[in-house]
Amino acid sequence: MATPSTLPAANLDEAVSFTIPARHVRGRVVRLGPLLGEILSAHDYPAPIARTLSEALVLTALFGAMLKEAGGQLTVQAQTESGIVDLLVCDYRGGELRGYVRFDRERLADLPSHRDLAALFGKGYLAITFDLPAANERYQGIVPLEGASLAEAAEHYFTQSEQVPSLVRLAVDDTGRVAGGILVQHLPEGEEGRERIHTRLDHPEWEHVRILAETTRANELFERSLPLEGLLWRLFHEEEVRVVPGLPLVKGCRCSFDHIRSVIARFPGAEREQMVDEDGVISVDCEFCSRLFPIRLGDLDA
Ligand SMILES: [Zn+2]
Repeated sequence: MATPSTLPAANLDEAVSFTIPARHVRGRVVRLGPLLGEILSAHDYPAPIARTLSEALVLTALFGAMLKEAGGQLTVQAQTESGIVDLLVCDYRGGELRGYVRFDRERLADLPSHRDLAALFGKGYLAITFDLPAANERYQGIVPLEGASLAEAAEHYFTQSEQVPSLVRLAVDDTGRVAGGILVQHLPEGEEGRERIHTRLDHPEWEHVRILAETTRANELFERSLPLEGLLWRLFHEEEVRVVPGLPLVKGCRCSFDHIRSVIARFPGAEREQMVDEDGVISVDCEFCSRLFPIRLGDLDA
């Protein structure tokens, strides 16, 4: 999918963070453009799958805001028991996003035109993993994949697993070239979500902000003529909003011949022998990039 370079760049491939200190609210808005094209062009996804992955990438960028550690990684994974989508994986590290979907093309073709979350995923779960190597911490929260949309499933995740009242909206424009989203959360007294004993979803501070944030329209998330700060102004102009300058987002993957070679080199010789085909090549596939890396055994010793 090519993205014309003539488009005005209104926060495309950018994330803007904000806080409303008086209401103990924090949030993030994200808009993805050329980056989506780069990720999707590695695959031949039908529109509903491309759309779902685009939403998931926006969600991943929104979640990435919560990583306080520079080298931290956040992974969003949706896995099902027997859904049309079997597996969806996206991750974020230092402003780099990547993702892919494993799905059943034949069953997708048989679906009627209306494709909601349940139709695509069936029974499944949403897992969010935070990897913080410097703090030597790994945390995973898992919730059933419930609701009409990925945004609803994400809200369930925050409420159930993180105990943080949250609002999530995701939108993809009709061309599939631009997608956007907003995440708004209530953290009274600067509490960290996980340590909370109970969640008050009806806190007056949160009620007020939630009602304002709910007026976000899908087109405001992807409309290039509206800067993300303009959207925040539209939503919360009666509040004192602190905005953190935009963070650029790029497509990033760790696959390279050097990286794959170093991974293979760590396997014991006997195991490597079993991976080799008759031409003396170990073929490693990066599912994020749909790229095959043929590694010659002889190259490993070089
Ligand atoms: Zn890759």
